[in-house]
Amino acid sequence: MGGAHFAFTDRWGGVSAAPYDELNLGGAVGDDPVAVRTNRELAAGRLGVDPGLVVWMNQVHGRDVAVVDGPWAGADVPAVDAVVTARRGLPLAVLTADCTPVLLADPVAGVVAAAHAGRPGLVAGVVPAAVEAMVGLGADPSRITARTGPSVCGRCYEVPEVMRAEVAAAEPAAWAETSWGTPAVDVAAGVHAQLDALGVRDRNASPVCTLESGDHFSYRRDRTTGRLAGYVWLDRERDDA
Ligand SMILES: [Zn+2]
Repeated sequence: MGGAHFAFTDRWGGVSAAPYDELNLGGAVGDDPVAVRTNRELAAGRLGVDPGLVVWMNQVHGRDVAVVDGPWAGADVPAVDAVVTARRGLPLAVLTADCTPVLLADPVAGVVAAAHAGRPGLVAGVVPAAVEAMVGLGADPSRITARTGPSVCGRCYEVPEVMRAEVAAAEPAAWAETSWGTPAVDVAAGVHAQLDALGVRDRNASPVCTLESGDHFSYRRDRTTGRLAGYVWLDRERDDA
């Protein structure tokens, strides 16, 4: 049984120029594609994974999940907000700049998932959909380890009152208030409540708020900016395992 690996990047250690400096990993935010490719190679190299194997998504704030067993063929990347694989050694990646990146792994079943949960994805249930797809490949929620990465916190993510009510109707744990007393949404708290309800107990949340951290990209703070990435993969099985 191979171990699970989880990694979240920050904005440093790449080659992109401002306002994407330095380690922008997003290919659709206006940055130089050559710089993004170099950054993806740098990040993969530091993690010890093959940059050509990493499975990225065309994220659209939906709840669709793709089951994959290798990198996409050609440039046609499906519009999904979660990817799931039962192939050990295949790294899955999610891009964010305030949204909640969610990494899931059941090392016993050999199944991992990466999901992109912003406010719409939380309401739509993209994380439960990813868990369901994992279970379909043999995972057991009681064995799943979940990690959520840096994202905008509930004390910073201000929304209109009606929007908070809509989100809280879907997931009460996401109800929040800004540090200045106005309606807010805590997407990560909502994701963790959804996971808990599914029986995923081994969970950890990053303490980093992207909007408050100068070491992270934040769309709400900067609008035109880079993207962070979260990566999940399992060790390859050894021949004698
Ligand atoms: Zn914050």
